[in-house]
Amino acid sequence: MTLFEKIIARQIPADIVFEDDQCLAFRDIAPQAPVHILIVPKKPLERLGAASQADCALLGRLLFSAAEIARLEKLVDGFRIVINNGSHGGETVPHLHVHLLGGRQLAWPPG
Ligand code: AMP
Repeated sequence: MTLFEKIIARQIPADIVFEDDQCLAFRDIAPQAPVHILIVPKKPLERLGAASQADCALLGRLLFSAAEIARLEKLVDGFRIVINNGSHGGETVPHLHVHLLGGRQLAWPPG
């Protein structure tokens, strides 16, 4: 069971900010911006690159939820969505998660 599955199952605590039948969102434990929230599917899907055609609606739901949470967090000046995929992408938890970052000016390109 991955760390995020344990958070979904409420086996380990998290600061949950949003939930629906398919997604859970909670604050990142090591925030890289004033607002740093992870949005995860409740279904165990390892990473974006492991998604299938059947996951298209779920992927849309994750992005739409991220935009909804950005509104709730009042990120009126903008925000960034990041999905790290695999070792070169910097993925450390093998359960798909969308990073929502905001509350400061973010640099580009990323490191
Ligand atoms: P990634 O590097 O894209 O796989 O992102 C994993 C993220 O999970 C990192 O930003 C971590 O800070 C975050 N993280 C690790 N453990 C926890 C936890 N227990 N609760 C919330 N976020 C966590």
